[in-house]
Parts: sequence; C-alpha cells; structure tokens
Amino acid sequence: MGKMNSELLQAIGAVNGAASPLTYREATGDRSVTLDRYEKEVLQGFYSGMDFPRRGGAGDSQVNEEFQFYIHEYNDFENSTLRSLPIVYPKREGNELRLYFNTLSGFTIDTSAYKRITGAGKDVHWYIFRNAEDGFPHIGMADSEYLTGYPLQLRADPLTGEPDDTLYQAALQNVLAGEKVVLKSLGYLRNEQVAATAIQAAEFRCEADPDHKTFTSAATGKPYMEGHHLIPISYQGEFEHSIDIKENIVALCPNCHRLLHHGTNDEKEEILLKLWLDRKEALFQKGIKIDLKTFLGYYMV
Ligand SMILES: [Zn+2]
Ligand SMILES: [Zn+2]
Repeated sequence: MGKMNSELLQAIGAVNGAASPLTYREATGDRSVTLDRYEKEVLQGFYSGMDFPRRGGAGDSQVNEEFQFYIHEYNDFENSTLRSLPIVYPKREGNELRLYFNTLSGFTIDTSAYKRITGAGKDVHWYIFRNAEDGFPHIGMADSEYLTGYPLQLRADPLTGEPDDTLYQAALQNVLAGEKVVLKSLGYLRNEQVAATAIQAAEFRCEADPDHKTFTSAATGKPYMEGHHLIPISYQGEFEHSIDIKENIVALCPNCHRLLHHGTNDEKEEILLKLWLDRKEALFQKGIKIDLKTFLGYYMV
C-alpha cells in the first residue's frame, strides 16, 4: 500500500506513515514483518542511523534487540500502549529489516484470525506512523476496510464536543412544537427546552441578521431556526455557572449557524462581534465574565 495518504494522516493526527498488507508467510511462518522503503522512512525519523542489531554476527546474543513502540490494538488508531519489540536485520548482510510479532506487546495476529479475516475477503495490513508529539513510532494492524474507511469517520465538533448536531436541532424543533423530548441516551449537556425559550425570545429570527430568510418548519409552522451556544458548550468546564442558559443561546438561520461551526475565521468574526455586543451584558449579569479576546479565541481555527 505504501505511504499513507494525507487524508488518513490528518484523520489520525500523524506526520507521516506507511502501511502494507501482511503476507501469508509473514503472518503464519515468519511471525514478523519486513519493512519496505516507506516504512523504513518513517522509522528513520526516530532512529536516524537505523542501527538495529544484526543476527548471525559475533556476540549475537549480547545485543539488545528491543526497541520502543506505541502499539495499537487491532483496528484501533486511537489507543496505544508504549511497549518494546524486537527489531533486527535477520541476515548477515543486506538491508532486510524485520519487526517481530510479540504476544505480550500486542503486536501480533494469530494464524486463525489471519485466515478468518483474509477468508472474508479483507486484507490484513500492518502500519507504522509518526505523530508530532510522541518520541517513538506508532505501529499496529488493521484490516483493509478499516484503513480505507477511517478518513471518513467524523471527528467531534470542537464547539459542541459531539460529532453531529442534527439530533439536538431536531429535538429542539419538537420542543418548539410543544412536544416533550428527552435525548437521554446521548448524554447531552444541552437542554433543548432552554434553547426553545431563546428562539421564542428571538421571535424566530436570525440574530446575526433578522432579514435572513429560511423556510417554514413543518414542526412549528414558524421560520426554521437553530439554537447555538455562543460560548461553546465544550468550554463549560471553564465556568462555575451553567452556560446552558437562554442568555448564552442565540437563534441562527442554518447558514449562519453552519458558518460559525465550519467557516473561516474572518467570516466567523463578523457575526461573532455582533452577537457578542448583543449578549455580553446579559452574560455578565449571569456571572459569566470573559473578555472579547477569550470569546473570539473559542472560535478561531
Ligand atoms: Zn452551534
Ligand atoms: Zn443568519
């Protein structure tokens, strides 16, 4: 497979990385992987001399063959444990470099699992990557489906701490229509009832610009508006008082709302300045005291 593409690198927070399919012989016979030039390139970022022990030389048994790696469990890019693994040049000469499986370290796959996964039409890959913070390489194994699907996985929105806002906005429409909705299962920090009060107070108009046109909500028969926490709910930890209050929730048309979550800093700032001036006093009254710079900082990417 070679080098990881930029989408995958970005998704896993890596600077560089490489992956290749695990061959039948590596998985069932050698119980090790042979590094290709891309994988060696990643390793070179940590061990520039690539001074790994060589088997078959004099004093062979004295050589320390263990090196540190962050080892990931199968199909898991997120979690890893720092463990040591043997890495050696298995031959007296040449550049063939091998990383050995090790059951204790977790960098392994048993023969039956390998056969089961490949039998189901997937390839087993092993990968190595480097991220900016860690002093050792990350390695692990994953099946081809997991590797190709990963770049598409949603990351949490930094403003809400959740990957998707749709359920909350849908619940809000229902609450505005007078229905009782409880989103228990997702453990939301936000109460739709509070947002409903804020939207009613705004008379179903976009608070960035009351002239913004939307469409009529089927649930309420009123212009469709979304609720947005001006001080993002993901920053609740920095405040003693709740920020899930009507003073902190603004009604926005879907376009302005998406802009605050996904727009460029310049475009966001325009709207944020207006909303800040409108709400700053009410927030102060509720004991929520921050300055403009801190506030804007929550949104700058
Ligand atoms: Zn929002
Ligand atoms: Zn708007």
